Amino acid sequence: MQITNKHNLPEPYYKSCLRDNHPRFGWDTFSVTELMKGTKDIILTRRHWEELEQDCVDMIWTVFGTAVHSVMEGHESENELAEERISMKVPCGEYGDIRVSGGFDLYNGDTKIITDYKTTGVFSYQMKLQEGTESHWAKQLRIYWLILAKAGFPVKGVRNTVFLKDWSKTNAKRDRSYPQKPILNIDYDFSEVFRSDVAADMMADLSAKIQEILYYKDKPEEEIPDCSAEERWERGECWAVMKKGRKTAIKRHDSQFSAEQHAENLGAGHYVEHRPGVPVKCADYCTCAEKCSFYKKYMASLEEGKAKNEEETINE
Ligand code: SF4
Repeated sequence: MQITNKHNLPEPYYKSCLRDNHPRFGWDTFSVTELMKGTKDIILTRRHWEELEQDCVDMIWTVFGTAVHSVMEGHESENELAEERISMKVPCGEYGDIRVSGGFDLYNGDTKIITDYKTTGVFSYQMKLQEGTESHWAKQLRIYWLILAKAGFPVKGVRNTVFLKDWSKTNAKRDRSYPQKPILNIDYDFSEVFRSDVAADMMADLSAKIQEILYYKDKPEEEIPDCSAEERWERGECWAVMKKGRKTAIKRHDSQFSAEQHAENLGAGHYVEHRPGVPVKCADYCTCAEKCSFYKKYMASLEEGKAKNEEETINE
């Protein structure tokens, strides 16, 4: 990937952005972080790696995340393993055994807890809390658990330690539901993961994902399935109750069912219009977006004025 410095930022900052700009693994190995992404994202990023471009000004939060890891590195206790990378083989049918490699942040040999550090904003942290064990942070930790267990390290718990980069003391005083500290732990209850049938299901899911990637890796871009709504970080999908002859929505609902009930109650001349969500990752965070037909179609739809959400006055 070409990292540019269009804003003439200091050389040490620019060079810190080059730090992780290493060649991708071959098709016989995938990192855990990579497998959290959509199949299309993974293939297009690997396929176009040399041509992709990113400016260092947009890598500020990656640099912050790396800095947090760096200042803690080397301070682990005797019974802790930090910043280690280990892997396991996953049987993938006709493609043979494929390696899945995970770099976990901390494993404590006494408590048997794996910790993964995350540097993020308050909103993202609150979303992850809501998603619980279904968040991609939690899914990533489940795979680390599996890799470590297979390597002979027993695991009793998994945890994210979250550093909130936009935390505000004023907001914390004003609102009890706001995170009360700038660094917090999220502990996940994965007791069910320790059952062998759950581990087998996880291996099967990993195998299915890898086989899908390998099946599509040389196919034309349009044939590769688009990333799912979850993988696109899609937000704001809604169903708008409309009235014939009026351009703006009467009300937007989070569920199709409640919108349909509302329209029915209002009577003749009212109908429901589905409004797709905003694919936040495609729009702002996907490094291979310029190679992706989903992104191009989304941008074209915005230009055609199909995205009406922001223009509407909502009559709540
Ligand atoms: S632009 Fe969106 S759909 Fe396309 S590869 Fe990136 S995340 Fe996936």
